[in-house]
Amino acid sequence: MNVDDTIVAISSPPGASPRGIVRLTGPQSFNIVHSLFLEEAAGVDGGSAPRCRTGTIAVGPARLPAAVYAFRAPRSYTRQDVAEIHLLGAPGVLALVVESCLAAGARRAEPGEFTARAYLAGALDLTQVHGIAGMIAAGSDLQLQAAERLLHGELSRTATAAREDLADLLSLVEGALDFADEPIEFIQPAELRTRLAVTLAALESTRAAGLRAERWGRLPQVLLAGPPNVGKSSLLNRLSGMDRAICAPLAGTTRDMLSAPVCLGDTDCLLVDAAGLATAQGDVATKSQAAARRAMEQADLILHVVDAADGDPLASGSALPRRTTPVVIVANKIDRLGADRRAERVEGLAAATALPVCPTSALTGEGCEELKGVIQQRLQARPAQVDDQAIALMAEHSEALHDAIDALRRAMWLAEDCTEALSDGDLVAVELHAAADALGTLVGKDQTEDLLGRIFARFCVGK
Ligand code: GDP
Repeated sequence: MNVDDTIVAISSPPGASPRGIVRLTGPQSFNIVHSLFLEEAAGVDGGSAPRCRTGTIAVGPARLPAAVYAFRAPRSYTRQDVAEIHLLGAPGVLALVVESCLAAGARRAEPGEFTARAYLAGALDLTQVHGIAGMIAAGSDLQLQAAERLLHGELSRTATAAREDLADLLSLVEGALDFADEPIEFIQPAELRTRLAVTLAALESTRAAGLRAERWGRLPQVLLAGPPNVGKSSLLNRLSGMDRAICAPLAGTTRDMLSAPVCLGDTDCLLVDAAGLATAQGDVATKSQAAARRAMEQADLILHVVDAADGDPLASGSALPRRTTPVVIVANKIDRLGADRRAERVEGLAAATALPVCPTSALTGEGCEELKGVIQQRLQARPAQVDDQAIALMAEHSEALHDAIDALRRAMWLAEDCTEALSDGDLVAVELHAAADALGTLVGKDQTEDLLGRIFARFCVGK
């Protein structure tokens, strides 16, 4: 990405409007703008403060009034000279002004190139870059606020502070390794775990704030979870009234994430079956499992499906999900139990899990309308969407936070078995490095050019 030339783009929204903006940045910005104006009014180069001048600009055969706003480096968005020409927002007029700038030596800006220059000049870090992208894409005032929180550095602050804590702890753990033969005590495992717990809590709280923001602006998601062959795909088909999923007697037939909208009276939800993702094998396994993990985290309600006719429906392979999200147990295949045993089975499951239990048969449809009623009730019981902490994380933020959190949990667990002097803490150090690296990707440390290219390509031209 060449930052030494001068770039130009229309930076107002597409379509006609009373005012349009053509923006330039780079060393020749002011000279190019001068060349377009008919009189001295475009004397925009002086002083350190932003300047505004008005004048007349030649646009093809027409003469139009225009204003120029000049922001001299480094007090500008890109930290280079920036000039904005404000004039009539007619698409044809703006295109002609851009052509004139190109003829005077500017180059057409790539998508996101203004923000890329701000980033490369150190004016923004990557999380703030994402915050700008989120603000451009925001569809509601809540989403706008959540993106703004990202832009104003909430995530950078957490990630940077956590990285610094980890660097500090790493120096102590690696010191203990390097001087294992010396009678020097760097840090004890108990203290290490206490300090890691504080960092972990901060990262988990940011991650949770991100998940809350993700829920806005989409249908509530209800995830079908549970072991293979209990009837999740059949329930997806039955509840949605669509033949979305192939149901087969062979365990693990669902190999893809399936979802279908379900109408619940006056509201709708999206029913998601991610079973195949969790059991996928081969090259796609890791990606599938990450997608399954995200589906689990994003769910507003989890239907944990078990085979009611199984001797032990809660046996291994049907571990209950963690309980931050509400869970309902669905005792499916109830048709395979005699009427006398059904109530006993439902009561047994309720007592064993302390969760609401819905008996259903995806085969006959029995209990399915009642299950829809329970889903509706549970979704309505969700807390209202008033949240001044939510933060609009991008998918890569969530993944990086997740990787860091996982590595810290493993480090805490490994530290439990270490000697008092931590002289055998090499595996702990590996996990601390992994966590620090994951956080590094959040604030733009060690970014490859390829990744940066992909991030800025999401922007529109002119931003
Ligand atoms: P999944 O792996 O959990 O998605 O399970 P499927 O929906 O593919 O179902 C596995 C097998 O159980 C298929 O042969 C289904 O026809 C059967 N099945 C699903 N639901 C019921 C039910 O309520 N009653 C009975 N008897 N069989 C069912």
